[in-house]
Amino acid sequence: MSVVGIIPAGGSGERLGADGPKAFAVLAGKPMLEWSLEALAGVCERVVVAVPAGFEDPPDRVRGGASRSESVRSALAAAPEATVAVVHDAARPLVTRDLVERCIAALGDAEGAIAAARVTDTVKEGHGIRVLRTLDRSRLWAVQTPQVFRADALRSALDASAERLAAATDDASLVESAGGTVRLVEAPPENLKVTTPLDMRIAEAVLQSRC
Ligand code: C5P
Repeated sequence: MSVVGIIPAGGSGERLGADGPKAFAVLAGKPMLEWSLEALAGVCERVVVAVPAGFEDPPDRVRGGASRSESVRSALAAAPEATVAVVHDAARPLVTRDLVERCIAALGDAEGAIAAARVTDTVKEGHGIRVLRTLDRSRLWAVQTPQVFRADALRSALDASAERLAAATDDASLVESAGGTVRLVEAPPENLKVTTPLDMRIAEAVLQSRC
């Protein structure tokens, strides 16, 4: 088994309002990307990062694509030896090694195993501002990364048009549509995605409290 980490870090981070790409914004003393690299490096034989144009450094920093899924595909293409792919967004710097290991352990004979937190808010479906219905919260999960896959299943799921890849908000949805079985791994809600300046402040406080 060759376990390879894949980190999509090719986003611009416009919503964060940082000077450069989000993955390189300094968070609790180091570039955001480094926190995820540390968590994955202890578990993966190699970690390939998809970076924005101008940040490439072959063989392990490859140019990302127009969409997140295209970035994942580029990074995976640079790791033909991978039999298991651990995909993790650079935008989730609070990931722990324990969570990565639990996702890998949960894979078993499935095609995927993904980190997710139980939904604690009540969730409604709307049409404009009109409520259509209230969903059954007990069955809902908010999906995160890491998302671990049999590499072949992920490769074939990513073999899709640019349009389809741009519409996918995570990798598991592509594997699910191809008929793959995906398992949920309960993750701490603190494994948050950094999107806004407020997320950055929360992430910094959590990382500092871990030191
Ligand atoms: O934009 P969003 O926060 O959903 O991005 C999730 C992850 O995907 C981030 O780590 C971002 O750097 C990465 N990404 C990428 N290539 C893109 C867009 C986003 O690697 N074209």
